[in-house]
Amino acid sequence: MHKGEPDFARVLLDWYDAHARDLPWRVPPGSVRQPDPYRIWLSEVMLQQTTVAAVSGYFATFTQRWPDVGALAAADDADVMAAWAGLGYYARARNLLKCARMVAGEYDGVFPDSAAALQRLPGIGPYTAAAIAAIAYGQSETVVDGNVDRVISRLFAIETPLPDAKPDIRARAGDLTPSQRPGDYAQAMMDLGATICTPSSPNCLICPVTGFCTARARGIAAELPKKRRKPPKPVRRGYAYVLVNSDSAVLLERRPDKGLLGGMLGWPGSAWEDNPDPVPPVDADWRAVGEVRHTFTHFHLRLAVMIAISDARPERGAFLARDAFRPGDLPTVMKKVHYLAASIIDSV
Ligand code: SF4
Repeated sequence: MHKGEPDFARVLLDWYDAHARDLPWRVPPGSVRQPDPYRIWLSEVMLQQTTVAAVSGYFATFTQRWPDVGALAAADDADVMAAWAGLGYYARARNLLKCARMVAGEYDGVFPDSAAALQRLPGIGPYTAAAIAAIAYGQSETVVDGNVDRVISRLFAIETPLPDAKPDIRARAGDLTPSQRPGDYAQAMMDLGATICTPSSPNCLICPVTGFCTARARGIAAELPKKRRKPPKPVRRGYAYVLVNSDSAVLLERRPDKGLLGGMLGWPGSAWEDNPDPVPPVDADWRAVGEVRHTFTHFHLRLAVMIAISDARPERGAFLARDAFRPGDLPTVMKKVHYLAASIIDSV
């Protein structure tokens, strides 16, 4: 494929007009409706590091409970964190609220329309800013996510491994971005990467842009993009303590705002490190019930789950009555702890 190929965008947009994915935050091609910046922003923040399938239910819940940025800005932090539980990367949920409050307070409830201004809002990086500016406001911004990295690497047969290839990919993606319908074009590139130019088995036979594709011509499509080998993730260990009192209430503690799972409810526990010290919240007859395994972005976690039944008063956390305890509000690793201990909790 050659730089600045003029017909590429037209061919891709023709394909998009016929095959666009039907997504709840999207306005279909040709519609007279304008995309809602709030819904585009919310979906893009949710989609960072997560799949469309995983996000759809959360998106429906959020937009029913908080249909616009003003409603979200006025929400209780704890309600939003609970509704986010399971999506992971909880710093994003905290930034989501900060951003909603800034847009509601400083921008009269209207998201700014330029990528530069959008990037000054909490939790909005270059990718999300470009996506909102292009899709919601029709600005000719180049949107480069993992799908686009892959498609561009293949179209131009870029053999430099990621992430070193990123500047080259960005430049080539920029050359291809049209001034007409940049939002639909951005979504078309995402759709092409998600449905046809997939990671391990690109379906070149039905690809609308196969005639532009150098990797396809050379028979190396499935080998690209190349990736720099990552060092293996370290393993950290920790303890999680499930304390139940004689009224069947369970001890939970809100994690500090800063750091992993910040602001989320969880079981009291130790630090997560190579060799953590046990730090039970009360002196009691603690029993080991098993181990929970969970993988975060930068490490694998092995949590020893301890359980005790006691009316001793803990120094940290607070007992939550059983009918007020909603395990679904916990982040995934804490849900796994609950799952392991549930039969014992239920028997008290
Ligand atoms: Fe991807 Fe194949 Fe299409 Fe090239 S021809 S963009 S490798 S699906």
